[in-house]
Amino acid sequence: MKRTFAAIAVAAAALTAAGAQAQNYPTRAITMIVPFAAGGPTDVIARIVGENMSKTLGQQIIIENVAGAGGTTGITRGAQAQADGYTIMMGHMGTHAAAPALYPKLRYDPAKDFSPIGMAAGTAILIAARKDYPAKDLKEFIARLKTEQDKANEAHAGVGSVSFTTCTMFNVMIGIKPTRVPYTGTGPVVNDMIGGKVDYVCDQIVNLVTQIQGGNIRAYAIATPERSSALPDVPTTKEAGLPDYQVSAWNAVFAPKSTPPAIVAKLNDALVKALDDPATKKRLLDLGAVLPQGNERTSAWLGDYVVQEVARWTPILKAGGVVAPE
Ligand code: ASP
Repeated sequence: MKRTFAAIAVAAAALTAAGAQAQNYPTRAITMIVPFAAGGPTDVIARIVGENMSKTLGQQIIIENVAGAGGTTGITRGAQAQADGYTIMMGHMGTHAAAPALYPKLRYDPAKDFSPIGMAAGTAILIAARKDYPAKDLKEFIARLKTEQDKANEAHAGVGSVSFTTCTMFNVMIGIKPTRVPYTGTGPVVNDMIGGKVDYVCDQIVNLVTQIQGGNIRAYAIATPERSSALPDVPTTKEAGLPDYQVSAWNAVFAPKSTPPAIVAKLNDALVKALDDPATKKRLLDLGAVLPQGNERTSAWLGDYVVQEVARWTPILKAGGVVAPE
């Protein structure tokens, strides 16, 4: 009897301590892992929302760039972190939907190993090239790529990244096998593209808007049904003659699985407040991001969406026959 009572007392004490921990959270800085190099779309979105989340939470959100293996290195580290709310991560369609099909030994399950916090930004995909690429429109671009084949250099952010995934789709669709050049993120890709070192990329609009508006990079098409108000002169793939190439990406915040629900709720609340903050919202919209609305902002919705996205991308990528090196 005494032992039972003692066990109950210990359990109650633990629950009280956990409750107090969650209630007082956060009491110190929070690390947000960005699984790509600084300056790329995931990094930019993380820093924009993180800056405002810090104000709501009253503690600094510190971005830690952990690049490698198409973002799976950083997300693996995030999945294995303490589930105390002090390590979160910005994942995306690559790390949390494409990766399982491309990494047979992936060390996390996107649908099971995380506490989803919330969707941050949807990002249309652009087919973009160095500004002096000798093709005046998408049709000429595709025709030239078909003759160049492996003489054309396509840049991406590693097997499983959004740029890798969406250009795999593009390359297979038009029947080309370019030389594929891996980077630690598409931030560095932009620098090399402006320098003329690589020919093209399939990348998220938030990473390219400024450079396209400045005439430093050329966009042949945007892979969404409608044009983006951020790039009104860039035709859709449908207008440009490749209607079947329809693809967008997304970036979302995750915590390790078993993060206390009260902490998840505080993080979700801070993310939603960031998306509603006028200045933060404007920065994201000016970069062409699409922001989640209503139910799309909940943690539960994100959890369901990840399951759907893994199911959607797995057959597409397996058909492409690409598997990451062991
Ligand atoms: N989102 C990655 C980055 O921020 C790029 C990618 O996934 O293609 O660099």
